[in-house]
Amino acid sequence: MKKSIEDILKECRELAFDLKFTRSRNWLKENPKGVVVGYMPIYFPREVIHAAGGLPVAIFGGGDRKEIIKGDAYYQSYICHIPRSIMELALDKHLDHMSGFIFPSICDVIRNLSGIFRQQKIGKFVKYMDFPQNFMPSIGGVFYQQEMQHVMDYVTELTGKKVTNEDMNKSIALYNTNRSLIEKIYDIRQEFPWRLSITDVYHIVRAGTVIPVEEHNAILEDVVEYMSGNVGIPQDKIKVVISGAFCEQPAVGLIRAIEDAGCYVVDDDYMLGSRMILGDIASYTSNGLEAIANSYIKQSQYSSSIYDVDDPKEHRLAKIVKKRGADGVIFASASFCDPSLLDAPIFQNAFNKMGIRYIAFQFSENINQYKVIKEQVGTFSDSIKLWEGEPA
Ligand code: SF4
Repeated sequence: MKKSIEDILKECRELAFDLKFTRSRNWLKENPKGVVVGYMPIYFPREVIHAAGGLPVAIFGGGDRKEIIKGDAYYQSYICHIPRSIMELALDKHLDHMSGFIFPSICDVIRNLSGIFRQQKIGKFVKYMDFPQNFMPSIGGVFYQQEMQHVMDYVTELTGKKVTNEDMNKSIALYNTNRSLIEKIYDIRQEFPWRLSITDVYHIVRAGTVIPVEEHNAILEDVVEYMSGNVGIPQDKIKVVISGAFCEQPAVGLIRAIEDAGCYVVDDDYMLGSRMILGDIASYTSNGLEAIANSYIKQSQYSSSIYDVDDPKEHRLAKIVKKRGADGVIFASASFCDPSLLDAPIFQNAFNKMGIRYIAFQFSENINQYKVIKEQVGTFSDSIKLWEGEPA
């Protein structure tokens, strides 16, 4: 390992919540012909921006670390919190080094936020990006390639770069390495979740959304090496999968509280965008956009933004529960998050039939009081640990 695990964790904690996006500002100074492009949750194929000479940077809002003073004025009270904190970041010039912004289609709130960015003339381009809901490569796949090309045109217009096949394949290969190292971390935690807490994993994966992929891959390699050793002490906890927190993020204190309350989180969708594609994307083709489109159609993770009738999301999530050997699922939805809250009953009805245990709660990114949630999670854990096998 090139750095100690303590140094890596400290660096990732700082990067993950650096709301001034310092690393990308410095990257811009080091790469004066480059551009920084911000993207909102859930998922955007970062390979496209990387190949075009840009640095993709995820914007997950201000969490519990940014006071909302002006952002509230743009939104009604009965929607989720993340658009207010993103507006606050934009109005306080935290995003002023970003040349463009991508708003992947997930809900009306994100769509409206793209409209406000455009109306307020924030950035040189604003792209509301539709993802295919038709999973035939000749229809949905072609449409998706056109959407990606649109973004690439925006970026190359600014960088002046002509993107070659070699550029695309190189970018795809780098992100393949990134995803496979992240999955390796989750695979190790599946067996040995005490080797690194989910809070540490969260910081490590989130840090990767705001720095160059090459730097993140080096961090991940060190983390995998550390976790491959016999470190940490096992505790008596159940294993759970977290689902529903894919956009607005819970405060770190809440992520920590779930493990402190007696649960090892062996899978989650906090940083779903970094893990959306399962396995490698073909990195040796003559059409990189087609390769990315095919991967989305054939290898995408379960998500509230994907409506694949042939492979419904409840079956995809149940497969993860089985693969990870989880004892149950915790549905954690941001308050007023339609995609997450509308999916929850679909999951829960299916899980009632499949016999998969679950609990559900709601959170808001700026709330850092979670005593009630901790008690609920602790009771869930105890009910499985202590009374498993008892007659109902
Ligand atoms: S938290 Fe949910 S409702 Fe809010 S912007 Fe994200 S996906 Fe949309």
